[in-house]
Amino acid sequence: ATGVKAGELIKRLMKETNQLYGNNSPVEFDTAAMIAVDNNIELVIKRQKTAEEELIEEFEQMMENVDPEKLRPRPPVVTIMGHVDHGKTSLLDKIRKSNVAAGEVGGITQVIRAWSVTHKVLNPDDPNEELLEKQITFLDTPGHEAFTKMRARGANVTDIAVIVVAATDGVMPQTEEAVNHAKAADVRIIVAINKVDAPNANVERTKRQLYNLNLLPDNMGGDIQFVETSALTGQGIDDLLTAISLEAEFNLADELKADPDRPAFGTCLEGYMTAGEGVNATVLVQQGTLRPGDIVLCGANYGRVRTMYNDHGVAIEEAGPSTPVRITGLGGVPNADDPFYAVDELTTAAKIAEAREKKDREASLNRFQAVKDLDSLTAA
Ligand code: GDP
Ligand code: MG
Repeated sequence: ATGVKAGELIKRLMKETNQLYGNNSPVEFDTAAMIAVDNNIELVIKRQKTAEEELIEEFEQMMENVDPEKLRPRPPVVTIMGHVDHGKTSLLDKIRKSNVAAGEVGGITQVIRAWSVTHKVLNPDDPNEELLEKQITFLDTPGHEAFTKMRARGANVTDIAVIVVAATDGVMPQTEEAVNHAKAADVRIIVAINKVDAPNANVERTKRQLYNLNLLPDNMGGDIQFVETSALTGQGIDDLLTAISLEAEFNLADELKADPDRPAFGTCLEGYMTAGEGVNATVLVQQGTLRPGDIVLCGANYGRVRTMYNDHGVAIEEAGPSTPVRITGLGGVPNADDPFYAVDELTTAAKIAEAREKKDREASLNRFQAVKDLDSLTAA
């Protein structure tokens, strides 16, 4: 038993999708997965795959086949999560600003909601020598829904979740949700207790509430790093970056690897149109190296990469693993969480794009069918 009542489930489905559902309505996998995750339900899918699904799966498996011998270290990808108004955006802004090299002309041109920062840390082998430069990739909080959708597809774009909790409010419902999502996604968690500068901040109470969510620091038998921050004063920002680098080095060294010398693949973070450049897609390269001129399939859209921009809006020629870039040149606007692949032939891209389109069409037909089912129920 799931412990979820059927009526509740239908209500939730309608809320999540703005669609009507009857008792026999098919439910899209992503939606089912999201509700299952929120309710700790194991999802069992028993359905014959269509020819298109088989084709897509075969293609993706082939494209994602990475040679373990060729793996090299890559930067961690970090997502900041937490209750609304607890300071996620402010923390990210502060990290970004403190990272802009002094004297950089024009400051930051923030064009995409994902960026790389360089953090200097002491070299433990030689503390008197030059600082080591560590790259960290931050994704602007994609929201729980996007996070869950990506996870349902098996595409974890995030390695580390920073859970932000304001010491003024303490743990709130969305804090708890964020923790559950991060745990379910099996990503490493770092806690940032924010707003410690505020007169009504209560750090001790906030910590106790977090311990109750089973987030325990090492002096309590756990392995979660706690950092106290203020996005207002900048206190603790460097500690947070250090915590991320430590996490990457000591707990994720095996996972943070990719092969830069292969055709690129990764995940679309957002897609949109602009008057000047047409279709834009922000993508995170997860394996391989992406270059202008590459033929790219992204969800059900494809094309040749015309221009590729880094997080400062500068046109670049190469993007390796863990690099977020904005590309132009796709034939249509892709969705957030669409996988992308650099392929050899336009015909391959066209074939898989067509299969995806057909699959998407069938999914929306199913939704239409769901509405009809409910109509016939109410008519009876
Ligand atoms: P988000 O919804 O989590 O992205 O939160 P925001 O970054 O938008 O912050 C919400 C509000 O809290 C804003 O008015 C911020 O100025 C304020 N705020 C964020 N961080 C701090 C902090 O460290 N100290 C104080 N005093 N206020 C903060
Ligand atoms: Mg925000």
